[in-house]
Amino acid sequence: MSKNSEQRVHDAIKHHPVDRVPVSGMAWFIGARAGGFGTKEYATSGEKMAKGQLAFLEKTGVDLLHPMSDVGQMSSGWGTVMRYTEGLAPMMDDFAVREPEDWEKMRVLDPKKDGRMYVPIDAIALMRKKVGDTVSMMPYIPSPLTSTTHVRAMENVLMDIILNPDALKKGLEIIAETTIDYADHIFDAGADGLLYAPTRASAEIVTLDQYEEFGAVYDRKVLGGLENQDGYNILHVCGVEPFFELLSHYPNTGGINWWDRGSNLKISEAKAKWGKKICLVAGMDQTTTLMIGKMEDISNEVKDTIQQGFGDGTGLIIAPGCEISPNTDFEKIKEMVRAAEKYGRKHK
Ligand SMILES: [Zn+2]
Repeated sequence: MSKNSEQRVHDAIKHHPVDRVPVSGMAWFIGARAGGFGTKEYATSGEKMAKGQLAFLEKTGVDLLHPMSDVGQMSSGWGTVMRYTEGLAPMMDDFAVREPEDWEKMRVLDPKKDGRMYVPIDAIALMRKKVGDTVSMMPYIPSPLTSTTHVRAMENVLMDIILNPDALKKGLEIIAETTIDYADHIFDAGADGLLYAPTRASAEIVTLDQYEEFGAVYDRKVLGGLENQDGYNILHVCGVEPFFELLSHYPNTGGINWWDRGSNLKISEAKAKWGKKICLVAGMDQTTTLMIGKMEDISNEVKDTIQQGFGDGTGLIIAPGCEISPNTDFEKIKEMVRAAEKYGRKHK
């Protein structure tokens, strides 16, 4: 039976019994506020990110951290320009790929030198030194197709799928190679898994055939190509019609995080269809309940999630469906943990 947060997360992913249902806060950029850091200092310093994430842990007691600042960590290495505004995660201001020909000019990046990949790598190493293997650490890593939308506007990527597929695939190859290398560095630093994000794997963005050809091929390449094959990786998909069946067959995948409260897939349905195989990582609406709900609403939503997805006493991690707002009240995250302690213990 799980002795600490990291084991609790791992047991849930492997469908072993857990002492109680684990909780993730999907806390990415909010680490800056937790640590009292400005936008740029948090996004450019592994030390600040480590302190911010551990401050978040201290304030909330979650089981799973996601050291992360913004989508420019990798893409800035290819030339995407970010804008830094206080109180907000860095945003994309200018894209690296302007013409379809630019896909072919991309190069494989060095995670230690290019972009800001060094930030989460350094942060994880520092956090492990400080807290050991007590808490699970799974940084957000965008999938290759998601990364294409961090170097080129999404509407242009969607056009390239139709008009310039070969050029786009050259970019995807380079991105996939960089992503594997980045992930290997992250594991070497002490991460126990990835929050790997095939965010565009959803039917309102692309067709299933398009996702297979431009997304899944590269997702399997990355996940199957990692040095670490423990399988403690969670997929993060945005969108309202996630391709859950496709994702459930990915290699080296333990869990799937999606926005159950806003998508067409409820936890009870996912549990019935995939619950024996995939750990469900969901249950809290980050857009309403967590932002504007009362404490009681939060504990009720946790209770409902447990009723829908924890009947077998494992295979569930309570989590928001996407990044939480950096303004979210820390006490409300803590309430998720309190409710998990109250309702999320399996009684014989
Ligand atoms: Zn998302």
